[in-house]
Amino acid sequence: MPRAFTPFLHAAYTDAPPPRRQFLPREFLPTLLAGAAERLPLLAAPDLPWALAERVHDAAYLARWRRGEVTRQEERALGFAWHPAVVERGLASCGATLSATWDALSTGLGLNLGGGTHHAYADHAEGFSFLNDVAIAARHVLDAGLVKRVLILDLDVHQGNGTASIFRDEARVFTLSLHAEHNYPFKKEVGDLDVALPDATGDADYLAVLDRAVLPAVQAFQPDLLFYLAGADVLAGDQLGRLSLSLEGLRARDGRVYGWAAQTRTPLVSLMAGGYHRDPATLVRARLGTLEAALGAFAAAPDAV
Ligand SMILES: [Zn+2]
Repeated sequence: MPRAFTPFLHAAYTDAPPPRRQFLPREFLPTLLAGAAERLPLLAAPDLPWALAERVHDAAYLARWRRGEVTRQEERALGFAWHPAVVERGLASCGATLSATWDALSTGLGLNLGGGTHHAYADHAEGFSFLNDVAIAARHVLDAGLVKRVLILDLDVHQGNGTASIFRDEARVFTLSLHAEHNYPFKKEVGDLDVALPDATGDADYLAVLDRAVLPAVQAFQPDLLFYLAGADVLAGDQLGRLSLSLEGLRARDGRVYGWAAQTRTPLVSLMAGGYHRDPATLVRARLGTLEAALGAFAAAPDAV
């Protein structure tokens, strides 16, 4: 029976200052968590040990952020002000991703209802991302010798610039980003495969690119662990996206990715990544749809692992 870890059950989420106006308003969080809990067990994640973060991030950078010695310029790059809860949330999010990674390696599917902070670089924060949860988990299981080939499939609408930078010289990790060409980050990094889409790309064109360029590249690399950033900011109506997918298109996208992993028996770690829809109820529906797509694909292939 799959389960999901989530940083949203951490006290730091309720202790922190109000979220940015583009984020899911706090009053919608109980609806999201209750909807998820109807579908599968939901667990709070343990905090990540700092020593694991130091395998990816610069030690001096981490030490300054722990102490709150952060400049205004760094806060602007992050997108909100430093607060002790920002650090706690970051650790909880990474802990959820690492826990989901263990689940993926033992059962085939690991889920984090949260995570996917792909704009964090080794030595600086950007785009709501202070720690790169996927990079930390990937580095840990590679160092431990548990996997040999990791693919990071980043379908968030924004390019995974921090992740591409961190793994630029790491042949065991393939970074693949499908994103909106004219969106943040405006200076994009070079990943192993970057596919940039024009503004207002809709379901049919998006799914065609997924089928013709993206999934064949995943297949060709033959990863023994797949991290999937299932960003909902590709939806039409997202405040920070520039694409025009419908909820049905999002469901089809997720179904293809989870279906590929289930059918090929490739362990998959699922992260929610970005979502800033102007209608919070639509974002909640999108998130629950992504969970259902994962559960459906792996239930349809019960001997996937
Ligand atoms: Zn995004």
